[in-house]
Amino acid sequence: MFNIVIFGAPGSGKGTQSENLISHYGLFHISTGEVLRDNIARGTELGKIADTYISDGKLIPDDLMISILADILDNTPEAKNGVIFDGFPRTINQAGALKEMLAERGARVDAVVGLEVDEDELIDRLIKRGKESGRSDDNLETIKKRLKVYHSQTQPLRDYYMKEGTYLPIKGVGTVEGIFESIKAAIKEKCGK
Ligand code: AMP
Repeated sequence: MFNIVIFGAPGSGKGTQSENLISHYGLFHISTGEVLRDNIARGTELGKIADTYISDGKLIPDDLMISILADILDNTPEAKNGVIFDGFPRTINQAGALKEMLAERGARVDAVVGLEVDEDELIDRLIKRGKESGRSDDNLETIKKRLKVYHSQTQPLRDYYMKEGTYLPIKGVGTVEGIFESIKAAIKEKCGK
């Protein structure tokens, strides 16, 4: 299994660069945000719970999020060659759970692609995206809450993965193609692929 975590603040380009990574490395994509939005659209019980957190800019509780991810890994044969984890982990607890889940499969997180973008640029991008996406969380008030949550709960993962030796800092500004070139070069240097 070859596993990549794509990491960064809301609006840093995780979804866009995941698309590039999927086609280049042939990996299975798990976007926890998309899984939750799909459940909201279908009106499932999980969707109803998730909606209250998402539209308030908060994270879904760890236990629930970890069990959702475990369920996907257990029931998706296409994930056996490797996964791009997009939007997971978002807390140190989730990172520990991911480490265990992968270890059970004789695997690990091979690289963490950290897209680094200034706060002003993030806000601009998210407001623009909100005009097109119709996402309930892409409005200024919720964007500010999400960035706060990112700084307090998710950013500590940068140090966590730095210590593990897997964090690859990538400047997340410029053209989509240019950023992807930097990502590929960093993965090649770290993992030889
Ligand atoms: P995203 O599409 O990755 O920006 O996620 C949208 C929203 O879904 C987040 O703001 C959270 O409310 C929720 N979410 C997605 N992934 C996670 C996660 N790993 N842990 C907790 N909440 C999450």
